[in-house]
Amino acid sequence: MSDPQRLARAVFDAFIEDGGEFRQQPVSNLTLAGRTLLSVTTPEGELSVSGAVIAAGQASRRLAGSVGINAPIIAERGYHVMLEGAKADFEMPVVSMDRGVILTPMTDGLRIAGTVEFARAGRLETWARADEVLAHARALFPDLGGVQTGRWMGERPTLPDFLPMIGRAPNAENLYLACGHQHLGLTLAALTGEIIAALVAGRDTGIEMAPMSVNRFG
Ligand SMILES: Cc1cc2nc3c(=O)[nH]c(=O)nc-3n(C[C@H](O)[C@H](O)[C@H](O)COP(=O)(O)OP(=O)(O)OC[C@H]3O[C@@H](n4cnc5c(N)ncnc54)[C@H](O)[C@@H]3O)c2cc1C
Repeated sequence: MSDPQRLARAVFDAFIEDGGEFRQQPVSNLTLAGRTLLSVTTPEGELSVSGAVIAAGQASRRLAGSVGINAPIIAERGYHVMLEGAKADFEMPVVSMDRGVILTPMTDGLRIAGTVEFARAGRLETWARADEVLAHARALFPDLGGVQTGRWMGERPTLPDFLPMIGRAPNAENLYLACGHQHLGLTLAALTGEIIAALVAGRDTGIEMAPMSVNRFG
C-alpha cells in the first residue's frame, strides 16, 4: 500500500458516484426509541437516520457506552516520519522486530513507523516518539540520508482481547458497530465493510462472528 490516501479517495469517490452523501460532523448522542435508532445529534442539530454504524475509532467507546454497550477501547498511539530522498532501495516494507520500526517505501517517500503509546483521548502528541522512530531507522541504516517532510500520530483503537468488535447492537435493530481494529484497521477495512453490508442486508457473513461479538465485555 504505497498511497493509502489515494485508496481512501477512490473509495470515497465511488461512494459519492453511487449517490452517497458526505457530512463531516462529530456525533455527540444517539437517540433510541424502543429498539430503533431514530436520530444522531450533531452540532448542526438532530439528524434522522434509518440506521447507523459506530466506526469512530477510540471514540466508539463513548458512543457505544451511550447506548449501553461496553466497548473498552483504548488508543495505542503510534507515530510515523516521512523522508524524501532517503537512500533506501528496497521495494517492500522492512521490519526491525528488535527496534519495533517498519520502513515502507511510499509514493511520496520513505515512511518510518512504530511505537505504541497508551494515552487518554485528546492528549497532545509526544513528538519525541517520532524522533525516536527516526533515530532507530538511522541506526539501522547509517547511510539513509533523506530530508524529513512530515510526521504523524495515529490512534490504533484496541480492545482488551485484541479483536475488533463487529456486529449489530443487541438493543437496537438498526445500529451496528465496527471498531477496535487495533494495528490492522487498513488491512481489515474492506472485509469489515463486507461483513457490515451482509449484516445490514440480513445475509450470512460466512464467518464465525462470536469472537467479535458486541456484548462480549458485558
Ligand atoms: C503508526 C501507525 C501505523 C499503522 N500501520 C498500519 C498498517 O500498516 N496496516 C494496517 O492495517 N493498519 C495500520 N495502522 C492501524 C490503523 O491506522 C487503524 O487500525 C485504523 O486507523 C483504525 O480505523 P478506524 O476507522 O477504526 O479508526 P480511526 O482511524 O481512528 O478513525 C475514526 C474516525 O472517527 C471519527 N470520529 C471520532 N469521533 C467521532 C464522533 N463523535 N462523530 C463522528 N466521527 C467521529 C474520527 O474523526 C476518525 O475519522 C497503523 C496505525 C498507526 C498509528
